[in-house]
Amino acid sequence: MSDTNNEKVRCLIIGSGPAGYTAAIYASRANLAPVLYEGIQPGGQLTTTTEVENFPGYPEGVTGPQLMEDLKKQAQRFGADIRMGIATATDLSAAPYKVTIDGEKVIETETLIISTGATAKYLGLPDEAKYAGMGVSACATCDGFFYRKKNVAVVGGGDTACEEALYLASLAKQVYLIVRKPYLRASKVMQERVFKAPNITVLFEHNTLGLFGENGVEGAHLVKRKGEPDEELVDIAIDGFFLAIGHKPNSDIFKPWIETDEVGYIKTIDGTPRTKVPGVFAAGDVADPHYRQAITAAGSGCKAAIEAERYLSEHGK
Ligand SMILES: Cc1cc2nc3c(=O)[nH]c(=O)nc-3n(C[C@H](O)[C@H](O)[C@H](O)COP(=O)(O)OP(=O)(O)OC[C@H]3O[C@@H](n4cnc5c(N)ncnc54)[C@H](O)[C@@H]3O)c2cc1C
Repeated sequence: MSDTNNEKVRCLIIGSGPAGYTAAIYASRANLAPVLYEGIQPGGQLTTTTEVENFPGYPEGVTGPQLMEDLKKQAQRFGADIRMGIATATDLSAAPYKVTIDGEKVIETETLIISTGATAKYLGLPDEAKYAGMGVSACATCDGFFYRKKNVAVVGGGDTACEEALYLASLAKQVYLIVRKPYLRASKVMQERVFKAPNITVLFEHNTLGLFGENGVEGAHLVKRKGEPDEELVDIAIDGFFLAIGHKPNSDIFKPWIETDEVGYIKTIDGTPRTKVPGVFAAGDVADPHYRQAITAAGSGCKAAIEAERYLSEHGK
């Protein structure tokens, strides 16, 4: 590869969700001349949703794409260099760190902010795409409020599914927890809380076949004890269908160098976005198995940029 294909920067940000853009705002205002690569989904996950009602500063709410456009413009106003491109490989063995973009160009950077997000897992049913934003959600904290006094279902049997079911039970009329196995994988404490909730019905050994409804989800077709002699088809009337079967953090290309947990979330030093590699920081959902909200992602993007600035100044770069 020719040298003309290489470039040296002080601060490279990978990802254009709330974490990446917020890091770009802070890094550009701190004179780090950050370069940000947007990746396959410019604007991140929020570009796939309509109303965002819980991001501070928008009393009337804001659409996801508008919020992300605002954050991008704010970063560009201070000179952040926002580019199209996907990080395809990394070499974080020694500073300056090397990140390959689109398999061609290599960026050498003194500091790296990883803000590549985490992707929710879906069952893979065509109806999940058909009813996206019309009753299908992978985030109870984000969308639960829209289902007050309505009926909803949560798919999953782990701690997250139980947490989501309990959260929704405080808002909705009735919550069905659709569990593939004859038992819950969640901790005993979680299980007890679910079983005690008067408006949660656990549907063990049920699989979802599809969803139905005219202008949004009105119900789900389920099968009980699939493949067994007593297999049974069951329909439930619901307004919302929540997936809680896990997320996949977009951390694969960093894994040879950066520590992750068993799911793939990047491990950071408690309370900070610092990874074990000096000058490399992780912000937003890619490092957050617990909250996964736009505001928490933005907050950690801010922290990462402040850390990058301090690192550069400490090392005289
Ligand atoms: C449908 C939906 C509705 C939601 N509603 C709300 C809500 O109302 N309120 C709320 O607070 N939260 C909501 N969330 C959650 C919120 O979107 C996330 O918590 C937030 O977007 C996480 O921000 P992030 O910056 O970590 O990453 P993301 O938004 O996930 O962005 C990741 C970015 O990384 C880029 N990327 C990934 N890999 C690469 C690579 N190899 N190279 C370059 N770039 C890469 C992607 O292109 C993307 O730009 C919702 C999520 C979804 C899916």
